[in-house]
Parts: sequence; C-alpha cells; structure tokens
Amino acid sequence: MTTGMIVDDAAVMRIRLRDILDTKYQIVAEATNGEEALDLYAQHEPDFVTLDITMPQLNGIEALEQLIARHPDAKVVIVSAVGQKRLVFEAIAKGARDFIIKPFEPQRVLFAIDRLFE
Ligand SMILES: [Mg+2]
Repeated sequence: MTTGMIVDDAAVMRIRLRDILDTKYQIVAEATNGEEALDLYAQHEPDFVTLDITMPQLNGIEALEQLIARHPDAKVVIVSAVGQKRLVFEAIAKGARDFIIKPFEPQRVLFAIDRLFE
C-alpha cells in the first residue's frame, strides 16, 4: 500500500488530511514541524509527504530544501494557507510536486496525491 506522511503544526489540519487520505493511503507518520518531518521521513520513508509551510522550528520551505537534498526523489505536496503564493512558487522551484490551498475539498487532496503515482 502507498504510504504517506502528514506535516502540519495544526492538529485539526493533520486530522482533516488524515481523514481524507486514510480512505486510499496508509498514513505512517504525522509531524508537527520541519525538524520532526526530517526525522520521521528518514524513519518511515513514506511514498509521499503533505507539507505545511508555516510551522515552528523549521518551516516548510526549509524542511523541503533539506528533505530534497537528502532524498531527491521525495514526493512532496505543499499544503498552504491563502496569500502564500510567493512561498508556494519557491517550494515548486525547490522540488515540490504540487500544492493545495487551505481550505481544500477532499477531492482536491486526493487528486494531487493520486497524480504523484500515475
Ligand atoms: Mg502551519
């Protein structure tokens, strides 16, 4: 089964993403900041990652940079708040595969993740 990791500092957002993704994918880890995301990625090697941008410790952009440096094939989809267009473009330039804007519909999330594996 395809495995995923959810990275977001907001518990309510992690729960919502898990509820959506659980229907099709196996969520093997949840991280609450960029540091934790790097540790848990190395431990679980998930097939995909959903990555929030605004987080304490290491933010999403910094975490993405380090993740891609260590795991060039990591499949990362950014999940960002509205009004973060510049950061979203920066993330895409740094190797993120797609982005989702909060608030999102379940279909949008599943579409973005499904597409990673086509
Ligand atoms: Mg956040």
